[in-house]
Amino acid sequence: VDEQLVIIGGNTAGLAAALAARRRRADLRILVLEASGEISWGACGLPYNLADPTRAPEDLRVRPAAFFHEQDIQLALGQRVLAVDPTARRLQLERRGAGGVERLELAWDRLVVASGARSRELTIPGLPATRLAPLKTLDDLRAWKERLGGLRRVAVAGAGPLGLELCEALRQLGLEVLLVDPEPLPLKGWPRELRAAVAAELERQGVRLRLGWSIRRAEDQPLACRLELESPAGGTALEEVELVAACAGITPNTEFLPRSLERTAAGALAVSAALRVGGLPVWAAGDCACREPAVPARAGESARVWNPQAREALTGGRVAGWNAAAGADERQATPGTLTQVLRCFGLELARCGRLSEPDEVAAAPAVVDIPPVSGLLGLGMARAARPSAAAPAAVRRSRAAGQTLGHALPGAGRLEVWLEAEPDGRLRGGAILSEGCGGALRINPLAALLQRAGTAAELAALDLAYSPPFGPLADPLLRAAEHLSQPSAAPLP
Ligand SMILES: Cc1cc2nc3c(=O)[nH]c(=O)nc-3n(C[C@H](O)[C@H](O)[C@H](O)COP(=O)(O)OP(=O)(O)OC[C@H]3O[C@@H](n4cnc5c(N)ncnc54)[C@H](O)[C@@H]3O)c2cc1C
Repeated sequence: VDEQLVIIGGNTAGLAAALAARRRRADLRILVLEASGEISWGACGLPYNLADPTRAPEDLRVRPAAFFHEQDIQLALGQRVLAVDPTARRLQLERRGAGGVERLELAWDRLVVASGARSRELTIPGLPATRLAPLKTLDDLRAWKERLGGLRRVAVAGAGPLGLELCEALRQLGLEVLLVDPEPLPLKGWPRELRAAVAAELERQGVRLRLGWSIRRAEDQPLACRLELESPAGGTALEEVELVAACAGITPNTEFLPRSLERTAAGALAVSAALRVGGLPVWAAGDCACREPAVPARAGESARVWNPQAREALTGGRVAGWNAAAGADERQATPGTLTQVLRCFGLELARCGRLSEPDEVAAAPAVVDIPPVSGLLGLGMARAARPSAAAPAAVRRSRAAGQTLGHALPGAGRLEVWLEAEPDGRLRGGAILSEGCGGALRINPLAALLQRAGTAAELAALDLAYSPPFGPLADPLLRAAEHLSQPSAAPLP
């Protein structure tokens, strides 16, 4: 039977889906529709490519079109899907070519939606579009590189992971950088002490911080634009920059799908564990989709968590493509652990699983705080915070601090670990702050355990590698886990 699988989106998730579909069925017609003129490239490298004037944007390309043609996968570039009718199994698209723009209709038997996400629009009254620069596509990177020579001062709007990576890239290029965010600290949703350490590091590296401030309006001038900032207390400030980097987050590309399909508040498409959309012959993966992670939700948390990360796109794409080719939910996606790692100048930061919001944490009944230790085993110094009478959440938390290297080797830096577990000991999540030295990769054993509903006791019992150049014998990750696995830890008097 000459059946047609159509895949919307020709990057990580879409191409992983195409290759998996080909492995599952040799006789399927596979067509990838891609709105831009690019396929198969790595967005994660954008800030690092920008920071290096010797590298061309094209270095980010991963696989050439010929590789997919050899697998009998048809690629259609410059073709944007405008609307999908899942009942009639048809879609409308806009094709851009030398002869202009034309609209077409296309029939399909199975569909994979892998349309990713776009930079969230940032509207600042008075700011012309020419002074606003996102960094989400290869064309964005080309535009940045073209205008770098004329830049001296840049405002980065948004202190999330991308905003921080961009601050580092721009400082590396010798630019003055102003970081603006309405939140009082960078990295909303991460542990508060970690966020404070990141703010201090940014300042140390010469990034001027306007945290807790918003850009109210802008006034364009011949050589720069003047930004008017305001604080929640009603204060105002003026700043002059040549460009504003739009780092206020991303929005899933799902507007071409029927409104009746379930979406999260952010607009990501709700999918099952097999990455299926409703009961339709439609599967979705990558930044446009949202599924349930390995860590179950507590009361008040949403079951599905949007996790726009590259591995989610790659592994999800494979499952979506396989199932779409099979026409059945033969495979389930491995439960995601929401693991994230990034660098901010001299700091490495990682998190995984679910972390309670700071307010919840303040009310948590069994907070333990393990201060830095100089001896071999620091558990004797562990102390627990006072239980809160009105605590609704019985999440247990621990925090351990130490050094990145053992035996006070030169170059050792700060290493801190935060962990959370359910009252029965099942791990919920954690975060790591490391001053260089690869310390953030300690998140990996935690991620592996979270994927299997592991406990703090299991984490504490892991026989991990040790030698002084790689970390201390009493590793903060294991110490934090050990403390968390002892529910009898004495509360503070
Ligand atoms: C600067 C930056 C740094 C990042 N760093 C990391 C990192 O360190 N680690 C990590 O895990 N992740 C990182 N990510 C996220 C990671 O790049 C994404 O999760 C991943 O690229 C998602 O892949 P995707 O295939 O779902 O979406 P995309 O890569 O966005 O691909 C979707 C494709 O669909 C196309 N499309 C959209 N709408 C339509 C339509 N209507 N019709 C046809 N085609 C359409 C788009 O043009 C696009 O090519 C980073 C992202 C950015 C931008």
